Amino acid sequence: MLAGPVVVRTKGTTVEITDVRITISRACGGAAGKVLAFAKATIDNDWCMDGLRLIETPDGLIVAMPSRKLHDSCRRCGGKNHLRAAYCNVCGAWIDPQRAIPRSGVAKLHADVVFPVNPAAREAVEHAVVEAYLDAIAEAAHSQEASDVA
Ligand SMILES: [Zn+2]
Repeated sequence: MLAGPVVVRTKGTTVEITDVRITISRACGGAAGKVLAFAKATIDNDWCMDGLRLIETPDGLIVAMPSRKLHDSCRRCGGKNHLRAAYCNVCGAWIDPQRAIPRSGVAKLHADVVFPVNPAAREAVEHAVVEAYLDAIAEAAHSQEASDVA
């Protein structure tokens, strides 16, 4: 829950992030960082954006937008496989799990399905998610103290 709505004003339009629901993650860290929490942000009390992730990286906290895994097709059968698959899901043929890694070394394995189109909107979502996460952590610590006393 947010203390108050986070307001985004761009080009004469006002949008409010009216609620953020946080699920604290127990997941371990991956190559891109450690997922601290999953979040749902409600916009204008009308729309819910699910699939946000708060990730801790060496460079700080980032809020990842809702995304889907990218796929490609097996050369042998045309079956659909995620980009790190080592074997085709359909025919079982070996496929190079490194095929999606470009020379830059960073593979693009996911594509955002919902994303802000300007910096103000991105900052608003990030601010709202981080604030809700900090509130959830504080609340969890408080309830832990209360159960320790009892
Ligand atoms: Zn195949």
